[in-house]
Amino acid sequence: MNAQEMYEKMKARLDKVVPDVELRIKAELAAQIVDLKKEKNAVILGHNYMEPALFYSIPDFTGDSLDLSRKAAQTDKDVIVFCGVRFMAETAKILNPSKTVLLPSEKAGCSLAASITAADVRALKARFPGVPVVTYVNTYADVKAESDICCTSSNAAAVVESLHAETVIFLPDEYLARNVARETGKHIIFPANGTTNFADTGLDYQLIGWHGRCEVHEKFTLGDIQAVRAQFPDVVILSHPECSPEVVAASDFSGSTNAMIRYVQQTKAAHFLVLTECAMGDNIAAANPEKDMLRLCMVRCPHMNTITLEDTLKALQLNRYVIEIPEDIRRRARTAVERMIAIG
Ligand code: SF4
Repeated sequence: MNAQEMYEKMKARLDKVVPDVELRIKAELAAQIVDLKKEKNAVILGHNYMEPALFYSIPDFTGDSLDLSRKAAQTDKDVIVFCGVRFMAETAKILNPSKTVLLPSEKAGCSLAASITAADVRALKARFPGVPVVTYVNTYADVKAESDICCTSSNAAAVVESLHAETVIFLPDEYLARNVARETGKHIIFPANGTTNFADTGLDYQLIGWHGRCEVHEKFTLGDIQAVRAQFPDVVILSHPECSPEVVAASDFSGSTNAMIRYVQQTKAAHFLVLTECAMGDNIAAANPEKDMLRLCMVRCPHMNTITLEDTLKALQLNRYVIEIPEDIRRRARTAVERMIAIG
C-alpha cells in the first residue's frame, strides 16, 4: 500500500478526529510500516488505548489484553510487534515463545505492574498459606509465575468464582479488587506489612488485596461525574473497573474496554462519556461518527502514549526492543495465563 492509499484509508475513518496535516505525515509512516511488516513476516497487535492514527492504520488485530493474548498465541508469523505496554508484550512471549516479540518503546511500563514484585507475592503466600492467588494480567511475568491464575477486567469476577475457594488473594489493583468484592459479595482486606497472623484477628474476609493503582483510572472522581452530569444531564457515563468503587457506582455502566465499546455501539444516548484512557474515546468516536463522545482528557497514560508510529517503524527496522523471559518463569506464568484464557 502506498502513502496515498494509506492516507485515503485513514481519512475515511479519521476525518473528524485527526487534522489533515497530521494525517498525511502519519499515513506516510504507516505505509512504510505495512511494507516492512510484510517483508519481516510480522504481525502487529494494537491495544484499544493506541492513538487513533496508529489504531486505524497498522495493526492486524486490535482489542483488549485478552483478545490480543489470544491473537499472540495463535499467530504463525515470525515476529509479533506489540503496540501496547510491556506486560502485554510479555504475555505474548509467554504464550508464543518461539516468536520474536518486539515492544516499540522501552518506556512503555505500567503503574499497576510496577506496584508489586514476585517477592511481594511470595511473602503474601507465606502469610496466607494455601490461599489461591489471582493476579490481574497487568503484571510482569515473574509475578504471574507466582500466581495460580490470571484475570482481566472482563473476567475478574468469573475467575475468582471459578476457584470455589473460601479466601482468594487478588493482586495488585486495589480498585479492581474492591469492585470485584462488591460484585461477588465478598469482604476484602488489605493487610499492612508486618501483620503476621490473620487467623487470630477475628476479621471476616474472603478477598485479600494489594494497594496497586492505575495512575490513569484512579484520577477520575465522583466530582468529575457530578460536574459532567450537571452540564449534560442526558449523558451516559461508562467507567473502567480500575476506577474507584464510588466512580463505578455513580456510572451507568462499568466494564472492560471491549465491553465499553460494545455498550456505546448498542446504546442510544445524546452523549457518552467514557472514563478511561482518552485515546479510546477518540477511537470509539472515529468508529461511531453518529455518537457524541465527551472526553475527560486531563489524564493520559504516559506509558501507552510512548508507543508511536515513529517508534513502531524503528522497532521493525532495528529489531528492537526484544522481549526475553527466563524459561522457568515463562513456563510457570504460562500456566496462570492459560487458565485465564480457558475461562474466557
Ligand atoms: S492505563 Fe493504567 S493500567 Fe493501563 S498501562 Fe496505563 S497505567 Fe497501566
